[in-house]
Amino acid sequence: MRKLIDLHLHLDGSVPFTTIKELMTIHGLPTIDDQILRQKLSVGPDCRDLNEFLEKFAFPVHLMQTAADLQLIVFSLLKKIKKQGLVYVEIRFAPQLHTEQGLTQEEVVRAAISGLNQFFNWQKMHSSSQPELHANLLLCLMRLPHNYDQNLETITVAKHFLDRGVSGLDLAGAETPAFAISNYTSLFNLASQNSIPFTIHAGEAMGPESIYQALDLGARRIGHGIRCIEDTQLVAELIQNKITLECCATSNLNTKVFDQIDHYPVKKLLNQGVNVTLNSDDMTVSNIDLPHEYQLLEEKTGLTRADEKQLYLNAVTAAFCSNAEKKRLFSLI
Ligand SMILES: [Zn+2]
Repeated sequence: MRKLIDLHLHLDGSVPFTTIKELMTIHGLPTIDDQILRQKLSVGPDCRDLNEFLEKFAFPVHLMQTAADLQLIVFSLLKKIKKQGLVYVEIRFAPQLHTEQGLTQEEVVRAAISGLNQFFNWQKMHSSSQPELHANLLLCLMRLPHNYDQNLETITVAKHFLDRGVSGLDLAGAETPAFAISNYTSLFNLASQNSIPFTIHAGEAMGPESIYQALDLGARRIGHGIRCIEDTQLVAELIQNKITLECCATSNLNTKVFDQIDHYPVKKLLNQGVNVTLNSDDMTVSNIDLPHEYQLLEEKTGLTRADEKQLYLNAVTAAFCSNAEKKRLFSLI
């Protein structure tokens, strides 16, 4: 089995299907036919764009509003991806989206950390020849109207739990000119002042200019960033400054950033010397997992085992984790 690392995995887009059904039972929601439920949670080949893709988050987010539910979701997701060969993952979510029933952002994050710890204990009790899966959380600031205070609170919470389950920040939500990255300058300056590492979603729905804006804020990792291929000067800058791209192939097909996987440029960027990584983004929304993404790029773009080793090494280098954890991850390959 491949040893895999996922640096870009959204909790709300990756709630296991069986866990959704379990939560619906717990909350006494009417049962829905599996096929209809899948349509509610996952996009099909006819998905129009990023906005339609983001609509699939509404139902799972509705089921992620209590501490017990959040803990269960983190625990069950980790159990699921351990079986797929993952050895390290950074799971991201926006605490401010889980406060509808009165939880504070701090309580939301505490619940997710309980899910991590529950999994680590479970893993100890079920030791196997497979390497351990380690995990950290990234907290997303959101591109939403009038939420400066909530984003500010997310940074405070990230600082509170830094190196105790949380290892960084992100900026997520619909990429549109109304929510340009430059609007978030003061927030990411604050993150930098507090030594909180961060990644920023850019170069997905919007073009190279959004990646330049993320770099201006000091981002060392870009969520997606795949549209850098539209600007050769930018690609050169990414190589020179060792910036990491968190690429997510199927997700980019779903949101119509690319129309065919054959043209997906991970291998090309990797061979040019860009610090590319391969990630899943939203397992349930896209109905995929990370082994599937590797297989897809092997079959359709000629990704080799040597390329895959380089993707792994790039992910270790870019991971927001301790040096001891990086040493462990390097030793596994
Ligand atoms: Zn994402």
